[in-house]
Amino acid sequence: MKTEIIKCLQDNYSYIIIDESNNNACVVDPGESFPIIDFLESNGLKLKYILNTHHHYDHINGNLELKNKYGSKIVAFEEDKNRIPKIDIFVRDNEIWKADNFEAKIYHTPGHTSGHIAFHFFNEKKIFTGDTLFSLGCGRIFEGTFKEMFNSLSKFKKLPKETEIYCGHEYTLQNSDFCIKHDPKNPKLKNKIKNIKKKLNDNLPTVPTVLSEELECNIFLRAKNLQTFTKLRELKDNF
Ligand code: ZN
Ligand code: FE
Repeated sequence: MKTEIIKCLQDNYSYIIIDESNNNACVVDPGESFPIIDFLESNGLKLKYILNTHHHYDHINGNLELKNKYGSKIVAFEEDKNRIPKIDIFVRDNEIWKADNFEAKIYHTPGHTSGHIAFHFFNEKKIFTGDTLFSLGCGRIFEGTFKEMFNSLSKFKKLPKETEIYCGHEYTLQNSDFCIKHDPKNPKLKNKIKNIKKKLNDNLPTVPTVLSEELECNIFLRAKNLQTFTKLRELKDNF
């Protein structure tokens, strides 16, 4: 399996997961259809599944055009059935979704939205975290509570340290400004910021990031308890 990063809209990332044994593909969060179609056509891929982490427009906007064009099946959280149109396959918390050679564990991670999920492709050690966990940040809490978001992030902390994190947006540089402000002496963070700036200068995405680095550098994952997390999240909202 191979994962391709596709830029969508302003600062969104969609991901195409490719089974190279048969050219089947999944797309995660197609914010728009055009760049996805372009990649699929240039590479002779069959889009079998569309995976959505949550219902926000910038993550599902490409769904229906792709579904109509390729007959792909939409895979999404069962409780979002009234706000993600035309779901074919409903998934729930802790379920293992398996289709063709694709296999991912579903984690319900409420906070940003009440129906947010993450797809953990555990064989590949990759997780698609949507707008719950970003590199050096976490999503804004729109529908949930601080406690829900804190618990959702805690689920990621338990994954194998080498897990690669594919998040929904290129927010890393802005996030790093907040982290360094509140954690100015962290040498690992300083080093990560150097690498981030280099990648962005070379016009490269800063994703995927690796869980081990996020555990060392992401101030929201480093927050020891709910109280600290809440304070940081509130500060970030006004940063
Ligand atoms: Zn969102
Ligand atoms: Fe988003």
